[in-house]
Amino acid sequence: MRLVFFGAPGSGKGTQAARLREHFGIAHISTGDLLRAEVAAGSPLGQQAKAVMDAGQLVSDGIVLGMLEARLARPDTAQGFILDGYPRNLAQAEALDGLLARLGQPLDAVVKFEVPDAVILERCEIRYAAEGRADDHPETVRKRLAVYAEQTAPIAGFYRSRGRLVVVDGVGPVDEVFQRIVAALPRR
Ligand code: AMP
Repeated sequence: MRLVFFGAPGSGKGTQAARLREHFGIAHISTGDLLRAEVAAGSPLGQQAKAVMDAGQLVSDGIVLGMLEARLARPDTAQGFILDGYPRNLAQAEALDGLLARLGQPLDAVVKFEVPDAVILERCEIRYAAEGRADDHPETVRKRLAVYAEQTAPIAGFYRSRGRLVVVDGVGPVDEVFQRIVAALPRR
């Protein structure tokens, strides 16, 4: 099973991807986590990405694609994967199409998490208090929501026209949202 999860920051992608990973025995690939690991390691890539991430903007397409390509080459993706936070714009969606075509591993579904902005702001505030991620500061979350609306939301049309889009209501208890996702996925 090869999936993309997309939705606003705090829409529950990461939480649900961790569940789906267990359920299907597939890899969970979060480009945000990969980038945070580079920042924590102080690598040149991490040093370049940090300021952009802290400002709530998108890291350059080339950097993220290179990182993703290396990650997809690891053996734990053999049964499939969930991409959590990639693609984030139309150029990335096109690049992913090309990459997966080359690998002979097309996507089964693209899951869009729908959560109202008011709920997002509340969830990110809770995460900010718990984890202290600079980009969860309420002001930065507003910026990330704007970036999402402008750059990421349009990928829904891209995948809808390819018959891959699945829309899931992301509001409610984690277990309920999980059941909704599993029920909405194509049977294989
Ligand atoms: P996330 O944990 O997915 O919310 O990602 C945290 C931050 O990492 C984002 O706000 C971006 O700055 C950066 N990031 C993660 N994924 C991508 C991507 N696919 N393209 C560009 N930047 C990304």
